[in-house]
Amino acid sequence: MRAGGPIRVGAVSDCLFCRMVAGDVPADVVHQTDRVFAFRDINPQAPTHVLVIPKEHHPTVAALAAADPGLLGAVVGAAQTVAVQEGLVGDDGVEPGYRVVTNTGPQAGQTVHHVHLHLLGGRRLSWPPG
Ligand code: 5GP
Ligand code: ZN
Repeated sequence: MRAGGPIRVGAVSDCLFCRMVAGDVPADVVHQTDRVFAFRDINPQAPTHVLVIPKEHHPTVAALAAADPGLLGAVVGAAQTVAVQEGLVGDDGVEPGYRVVTNTGPQAGQTVHHVHLHLLGGRRLSWPPG
């Protein structure tokens, strides 16, 4: 067996986030279930900046929605779980609040081609985004 455990179904060997899920690349994990994985961004843009991903490899949010809408729902639900954990929302589930962003394609700045939600919060976030 490999050091990182068995090769996961759906994993892409040259994908950074698949390698983090497999344990081959270290991650500051804040939450995980059997299907989703959440870890702190290495270059945080806000006091809380967590990346929430499906453990299975899908390149974009639209690809994930098409392949497995339930898994997309689980990823969004995990973002809310982390937001509660990080104190970004209270009992109402809304305030003070947070932002979820997912970039698709080069013009939006997608650099890792394993779908990820950026969960941002802990400061006032301006709009429109840059
Ligand atoms: P994208 O640009 O694709 O929307 O977001 C990719 C994110 O992954 C960036 O915010 C970047 O800082 C983060 N990232 C890139 N490499 C690593 C890494 O090795 N570890 C962690 N924790 N985050 C990373
Ligand atoms: Zn991947």
